[in-house]
Amino acid sequence: MLKTKTISKQNMYDTVMKQFNKTADIIELNPNIRKILGITNNEIIVHFPVKMDNGKVEVFTGYRVQHNNALGPYKGGLRYHTTVDIDAAKALAMWMTWKTSLTGLPYGGAKGGIQIDPRDYSLAELERITRRFTYALGENIGPEHDIPAPDVNTNTQTMAWIADTYMSTKSTSERSHNQHVVTGKPVGSGGLEGRDRATGYGVYLSIKLLLKTKGEDLKGKTFIVQGYGNVGYWASHFLIEDGAVLIAVQDAHATIYNENGIDSEKLAQHTEPRKGSIKGFSEANEIDATEFFGLDCDIVIPAALGNQITAENAYRIKASIVAEGANGPTDNEGEEILLQNGVTILPDIFCNSGGVIGSYFEWLQNRNGELWQLEEVLQKLEKKITENFYKIHAEVQKREVDWRTAAYILAITRIETAYTQRGIFP
Ligand code: GLU
Repeated sequence: MLKTKTISKQNMYDTVMKQFNKTADIIELNPNIRKILGITNNEIIVHFPVKMDNGKVEVFTGYRVQHNNALGPYKGGLRYHTTVDIDAAKALAMWMTWKTSLTGLPYGGAKGGIQIDPRDYSLAELERITRRFTYALGENIGPEHDIPAPDVNTNTQTMAWIADTYMSTKSTSERSHNQHVVTGKPVGSGGLEGRDRATGYGVYLSIKLLLKTKGEDLKGKTFIVQGYGNVGYWASHFLIEDGAVLIAVQDAHATIYNENGIDSEKLAQHTEPRKGSIKGFSEANEIDATEFFGLDCDIVIPAALGNQITAENAYRIKASIVAEGANGPTDNEGEEILLQNGVTILPDIFCNSGGVIGSYFEWLQNRNGELWQLEEVLQKLEKKITENFYKIHAEVQKREVDWRTAAYILAITRIETAYTQRGIFP
């Protein structure tokens, strides 16, 4: 659904390593801990056969990279996309470690997926692919060990299949208390009310909080969104509800523009039967993809894939805020240009952390046999995101650094403390 238009030459693993090394230098990270965090703990690659609808067998390759678990079980999504490979999984796993640490959750970081375009397969095939992938991962995932969640092109249905497969392959007495092997399940199968909107809600809140520090609010602010999946849609929904105006949206198939505002709900209704594509939406004009980032607006929200804002287009951005709904959407060169131009980047590990916070709530709900109401979920989410926002804000001011660097300092310091307290076995 969310293929890139501009493919940066830099790979995401280089991007995250440069971010990590920059912070490690600033905080003079203990060299032993630097060695540990600079590499992944486990990289699992599985090849598994699946029978297609036409009777033929295809062999798929699945990945699960577990970067670090110093603070708790591995946590992070599974994506189904043609860009999934071992480097992408390593980078995304590392970002999860920083994200869960920064957010104050009792988790480490992991990520994985399958290198496919899900639109090439029927629903029945996707079910068999997902179930066989889960089976192939075996004990590499588990409710107290490594807990997957939705990511690009995976959803509540994918998580339901994983949970069911995982539980079905357990012994009878263990089946029922393994539901929290994945989060992001459908409500009704152990899912959390509001998990669907959690990431987008967090993106919205982080922008709102940033504007508040400048004495501003969202009324009349214009924004553009790249990617109209779960994150792009829900972020737009909440921003518009609070008075902001969505003027352009881009996905893998089209870039659409309407200076008077795009109705987020109508656009969502339009994309639904078209497997997610915004193409052909009648209440906006289609423009050239290269015009997107240079459009006149206040806020840019990349909510698709990594390495989208690069040296090729960063200089064209006129907005004063880039809110990273995606993971790793800005590469190092793109970031330098934005910072030089005075743009504030709300970094992915904070800006899109609403998703994993929602996952944590779901995991707790399952573990404790509770059922939380939507209002309670959104209140708790807001509290956590607000607390984290002000922690980063204080660090930005104290150290006079950009928001990403401040967030990384907090994230890495928390893990360093854990290692220092515990030491290295044996
Ligand atoms: N895929 C989401 C992320 O990148 C959510 C991960 C989770 O909930 O574990 O943060």
